Amino acid sequence: MYPVKENLHRVLDALPEGVRLVAISKYHPAEYILAAYEEGQRLFGESHEQEIREKHAALPSDIEWHFIGHLQTNKVKYIVPYISMIEAVDSLKLLREIEKQAAKAGRVVKVLLELHIAEEDTKYGLTPEACRELLDAGEWRQMEHVQICGLMMMASNTDDEQQIVSEFRRAADFFDEVKAAYFYDDPQFCERSWGMSDDYQLAIRNHSTMVRVGTAIFGPRIY
Ligand SMILES: *Cc1c(COP(=O)(O)O)cnc(C)c1O
Repeated sequence: MYPVKENLHRVLDALPEGVRLVAISKYHPAEYILAAYEEGQRLFGESHEQEIREKHAALPSDIEWHFIGHLQTNKVKYIVPYISMIEAVDSLKLLREIEKQAAKAGRVVKVLLELHIAEEDTKYGLTPEACRELLDAGEWRQMEHVQICGLMMMASNTDDEQQIVSEFRRAADFFDEVKAAYFYDDPQFCERSWGMSDDYQLAIRNHSTMVRVGTAIFGPRIY
């Protein structure tokens, strides 16, 4: 068995108060999740609808699941009944579909807006400009079954720490701008989801409230 427990505690011990760990369990077996669960971890993240559905059905019901991947609108209905948070909302179309399905399911689903700051243009997400446009349009204010709780982003995949830090800082500054402009009276808009296995230590020094760590806990993924 991979040393999940030891790794989990190493990551948890590094987190300051107020920063939560989303243990990213995609492509890892249920027994790895249970090993972390036995140590008290309750928050897990997955990025494929089919896989999260199977794991949700098989694992303890007090696990809080975050969907962290790119979500197609036709898959929204499958995860909305049980998902705790959808982290990577990158279009108004997706937001509308979450609202529609959450209304049907009679729940309020928490979401984050995915910000595109990194240099690679292969990544999903809203540019700061597109994010402002979405919020300016205002339709989200009428959505009673969606709660926008903050921003998520992925830094560039690079060894250049300066660049990673500068991307985290830009994301943090943008969070402050959005908070002041649209969510100043909404205490639920408080989450900054950034930091993965290779950069979570930089992220927690740069205003992250939620790190998404997989490999450093569960080992390399076998695709
Ligand atoms: C897979 C994934 C992670 C975790 O990456 P690691 O490098 O394994 O920690 C974090 N965020 C997103 C969006 C992911 O898809």
